[in-house]
Amino acid sequence: MAVQAAGEKRGSYRLNRKIPYRRIFEASNDAFLIFDLKGVVREANPAACKMYGYPYEEMIGLSGKDFVHPDYQYLFKQFVKETPSGKPFSAESVEIRKDGSTFNIEVRGSVSEYEGEPYILAVIRDITERKLAEEALLESEEKFRLLAENSFDCIWMLDTMMRFTYLSPSVETMLGYKPEQLVGTKLSSCFKKKEYLKVGVLAAKAIKNYKTFTHITFETRMLNSKGEEVDVEITGRTLLSSHDKLIGLQGTTRDITERKKAEEEIRKLSKIVETTPEAIVVTDMQGNIEYVNQGFLTLGDFDDDNSLIGESVFSFSDEKGVRQLKEEIIPTIVSEGKWIGEISVKRKDSSMFPAEMVCSLIPDEEGRPKYLLSQFLDITRRKNTEKQLRESEQKFRDMTDLLPQIVYEIDIDGNLTYVNKQAFESFGYSQEEYEEGINVLQTLIPFDRNKAIENIESVLSGKDVGTPEYTALRKDGSTFPILIYASAILKESKPVGLRGIIVDITERKQTEKEKARIEDQYHQAQKMESVGRLAGGVAHDFNNMLGVILGYTELALGTLDPAQPIYSTLQEIRKAADRSADLTRQLLAFARRQTVSPSVLDLNETVEGMLKMLLRLIGEDIDLSWLPGSGLWQVKVDPAQIDQILANLCVNSRDAIAGVGKMIIETKNATFDEDYCAEHTGFVTGEYVLLIVSDDGCGMDKEVLENLFEPFFTTKEVGQGTGLGLATVYGIVKQNNGFINVYSEAGDGTTFRIYLPRYAGTAAQLQKKDLTDQVSRGYETILLVEDEPSILKMTTMMLESRGYTVLDAITPGAAINLAGEYNGEIHLLLTDVIMPEMNGRELADNLVSLYPDIKRLFMSGYTANVIAHRRVLDEGVNFLQK
Ligand code: ADP
Ligand code: MG
Repeated sequence: MAVQAAGEKRGSYRLNRKIPYRRIFEASNDAFLIFDLKGVVREANPAACKMYGYPYEEMIGLSGKDFVHPDYQYLFKQFVKETPSGKPFSAESVEIRKDGSTFNIEVRGSVSEYEGEPYILAVIRDITERKLAEEALLESEEKFRLLAENSFDCIWMLDTMMRFTYLSPSVETMLGYKPEQLVGTKLSSCFKKKEYLKVGVLAAKAIKNYKTFTHITFETRMLNSKGEEVDVEITGRTLLSSHDKLIGLQGTTRDITERKKAEEEIRKLSKIVETTPEAIVVTDMQGNIEYVNQGFLTLGDFDDDNSLIGESVFSFSDEKGVRQLKEEIIPTIVSEGKWIGEISVKRKDSSMFPAEMVCSLIPDEEGRPKYLLSQFLDITRRKNTEKQLRESEQKFRDMTDLLPQIVYEIDIDGNLTYVNKQAFESFGYSQEEYEEGINVLQTLIPFDRNKAIENIESVLSGKDVGTPEYTALRKDGSTFPILIYASAILKESKPVGLRGIIVDITERKQTEKEKARIEDQYHQAQKMESVGRLAGGVAHDFNNMLGVILGYTELALGTLDPAQPIYSTLQEIRKAADRSADLTRQLLAFARRQTVSPSVLDLNETVEGMLKMLLRLIGEDIDLSWLPGSGLWQVKVDPAQIDQILANLCVNSRDAIAGVGKMIIETKNATFDEDYCAEHTGFVTGEYVLLIVSDDGCGMDKEVLENLFEPFFTTKEVGQGTGLGLATVYGIVKQNNGFINVYSEAGDGTTFRIYLPRYAGTAAQLQKKDLTDQVSRGYETILLVEDEPSILKMTTMMLESRGYTVLDAITPGAAINLAGEYNGEIHLLLTDVIMPEMNGRELADNLVSLYPDIKRLFMSGYTANVIAHRRVLDEGVNFLQK
């Protein structure tokens, strides 16, 4: 059946016979379907058949239930039911092709009449593509909406009346309102009046120029639900319809409170950078200036006209500074990110000043070095202070270096941190060794180290340890006594070490020792003196008695016939008395009461004269060497005393050797100046002739050495030694103003050195009287004066037995009387030297007036007191030992 296009009767569809409807119908791109009122297809154009995928023959007769999607069946029913009423129908539906695939359509239905019968004409348009596009749009809208709703920024729309039509949820976090609370309200409700004036002006402008207006961004402040102001940035644009008609405004609002704060912070910071007195320079990595602050301008007196920008930092230092920058500073910053140090900086007027510079890197976003930041601080003052400090330290150093004591500082571990010059001299370490580090314990002997540690700890804890004595240890291992003064070094009231003074007390110690030695010597001398006085006193009286014993024995023997038995008895008495006399002589010598007749002599000659006798004394087992010094000075000594000295020393050596050994006798000159005597105690300045007797015998220990000059001190067995040998030697040497020095060690021999003063006068060689030992009988008259009656009596007897006439007087007074009364000639005055009224010499002087030619002979048991005071009898005076 063919559908004829009918003229429109009612509504929109009217058929005009003249128009070739069928051709239009068949050629139309739109699909036409003609339904009967039951909804069955009666006619379809090719476009419709193509759309649904049915051949024309099959298409005819199909009903809506064959090709409408089940979801849209209701719509088709509606279409069939409603369209005949004449009301135009329009709807969208989903249809099913023959092959089952679906597609979207838009359908418009109308009712018409064909050959008197009503039918429904449906114009169908495939809208699948549009639908897809719409869906896509919807999807993108959804995306946008999601974006809007999740955005931190608030997205909004306003209508032309400035009422909110949309607000994204973030408005709540921003302003505290829910979107629905604001939708419909006016924009002005979110602003303070004054602020809204500006916003309103901008909005009005946008609305007025909406055709050319694109968008605007500005900052303002909105009110939140609590009435507080919130910093926001608003971007607004116009909202147009598809016909370019203004619908309203849309845009975003962003909370910029944080940004504002940050900006404020930066403003403050920049203010700080600008106004800090510290000088700041920022350069690029080549050292070209990008920024300087006021501080730097002030520091260098530079103009505030940006003229420094672009300059190289190298032009702000001297040659040395530039080298430092290139070789040290920049490489260090690049490798380590930082450099701190001192550099000299040039001012505008080219003057230089020292600055402390702190350099660091400013990286770019990727962390690559971009700028160098340098901060400068003028340290001229500090430098000056440093200089002053250095100077005052130097002063202090110089001063401590002048001190004769050692000045030191140690840390709490005992490491020396400072010492003065004297320390180096005293301890023998070099500067280098000191710099390598020396612990104070190293400078003490190991024995003292624990004590030192204890004392250091005590001082550190604030205790007073006084000035303890230690034994210091030099680098070369030698030692010396010291005193240590120490006090704690406090830093912020905490001990960090010790400082103090070390005093070398070697000299003090020596002086103390010396003092003790001298005191000892003095006591020794005093002891010797008192022992001597005692021994001398006893010996003197004893000697007198011996004189009497010997005298009477002599007398008795003279009157006896040797054949008589009593004769040998008397001889024994004389022998014993002789031996006793020997002993007393020695004692007297020790007590320096020996009457001597010193003569100027050459010691070499004296010794040589004795050698034979000495050899006999020491025996054949001992090898005696005699080493006479050449050009020996003369001495003035009684030669008999030299004999006594030598004999005693040789006998002692012989006893010490006990067997085979060696002995040396030596003479030489010796001069002691003050320096020598200062160093050698017991020595007296002057020129001496030295007599040395040494042996390789048993030697002596300390105890023997201390006592050996004492009379009766002996280590020998009873009967072997008298202990008087060295006492005699001592007495003799002292009497001659000399001194003795003994060197001996047990097992190692002994050396006695005897120093006799050089005789300075011209040598008047004494004539050796040839005393012929003839016993002659006298005839002359002798005036005998002696205060000891027994001696007076004995001597008178002896002289008378020899034929002399003796005038005996017991006192000098009696002697003078006797001489006055006597008529004959008196040939000789024989007198004691020491007597109560006047001494022998005064007596002699008295008698010279009466007897000008009288000869004088003095006799004495001792030479102490009067004689000893004058040391010896005048030369040429004849003297007789009692
Ligand atoms: P003595 O010889 O009678 O003992 P001395 O006064 O001569 O008395 O000597 C005292 C002591 O000094 C001796 O007993 C001896 O111990 C010691 N002495 C003296 N000379 C020597 C010497 N050359 N070697 C070792 N000891 C000596
Ligand atoms: Mg002896």
